[in-house]
Amino acid sequence: MSVRHLLPVLLLLGSCSTWMPAAPEHSLQTPLGTAFGNSPDAASRLVDSWMRIAPSIQLGLPGSKADERVDIWLVDQDEIPDPFNIGHPMGGITYSVGGDAKLIQVPDTHKLDWVLAHELTHALLGPEWNTLGGVLEEGLCEYMGSLSAPQLKPVRMLQVHMGAAALYGYDQAGLFFARAERQEDDQIEMKWLGEKGNSPEQIWQPSDLPFYLGLLDIGPYPELRAGLQRLGTFLVLRIVERIGLEGLHEMCVRAEYQDHDVIPFAWIMRAADLDPDGERLLPELLRPLRARSAHRLFREHGVEIGRYIASEYASHFVGWDGPNFVHFSAGTFRSIDGRNLALFDYEPIRTTTRNEWPLRKNSVDQVMPPFVVTW
Ligand SMILES: [Zn+2]
Repeated sequence: MSVRHLLPVLLLLGSCSTWMPAAPEHSLQTPLGTAFGNSPDAASRLVDSWMRIAPSIQLGLPGSKADERVDIWLVDQDEIPDPFNIGHPMGGITYSVGGDAKLIQVPDTHKLDWVLAHELTHALLGPEWNTLGGVLEEGLCEYMGSLSAPQLKPVRMLQVHMGAAALYGYDQAGLFFARAERQEDDQIEMKWLGEKGNSPEQIWQPSDLPFYLGLLDIGPYPELRAGLQRLGTFLVLRIVERIGLEGLHEMCVRAEYQDHDVIPFAWIMRAADLDPDGERLLPELLRPLRARSAHRLFREHGVEIGRYIASEYASHFVGWDGPNFVHFSAGTFRSIDGRNLALFDYEPIRTTTRNEWPLRKNSVDQVMPPFVVTW
């Protein structure tokens, strides 16, 4: 995500605010800026990712800035602030002043490469992209993320469709895991943790789409941020499949030349091979969430999905090991057509989740609240 013009406010708040942590203490200078981490090892891991990802964005993305310098902090996931107050840690955050990125914060997790590529894309987008609009900018950043961490793409696509379909009220599909907890009165209580799309209070109608795609900045709609980012990702992937990054860039330049603030809606829909009324959009969003498509995804990409589940959920099942989790969590995908698929019936998901589960110390203090991942 990107927070434009926020830095001066943050600097003012710096001494009294709890949500802006101090810079991590270890730093390394690079030709592109300074890398900060909580240990020398963390700072150098950040430099490795940064020096690999930034040049590939600059080579692959037309109209990118060549000599942008920025500070990057690699921090614990829960240290990433939540300035839009959406109630969960975000993937990463970029602070900009006058369109120039000054500081990027990224979480030290298995998603580092994806999130770093996403935030660096915000930072490196040159002025020729000014008419892209806020929704497609998020989508473009996610697309660049997918190039840097392709192993996360299968599960990310599921999240994209869950989040975007939820804008239209279709929020039933999701991944769920059960966690049994013994209460004070010795009763066992079952909690379901997992992720699905969140529908807004005002369910979208097809006519809402042109308004949101016409926004330069999605900052004023924090409650829709996750859904808008996913919708933008869906559209950018379709556009890039058809006309490439060059075609998308060319549309931005042409829109600017014709004095549009944002690429016209009709151009976006045509480039994404969707009808101008947006009627085909919803069926396209729902298709991968049907049981039949999910079944195919789990068969074809079980290893990536198992690795994601192990990396993402271990911190929410403290004290569990991989075999226990696979055996007792009743991992389920609920499809948009109301079917429950048992995730661990798929051999690659089962084996990979079990084998890749990180070893963690038992801790009775650390009880995480139920959560919905919407990074
Ligand atoms: Zn972003």
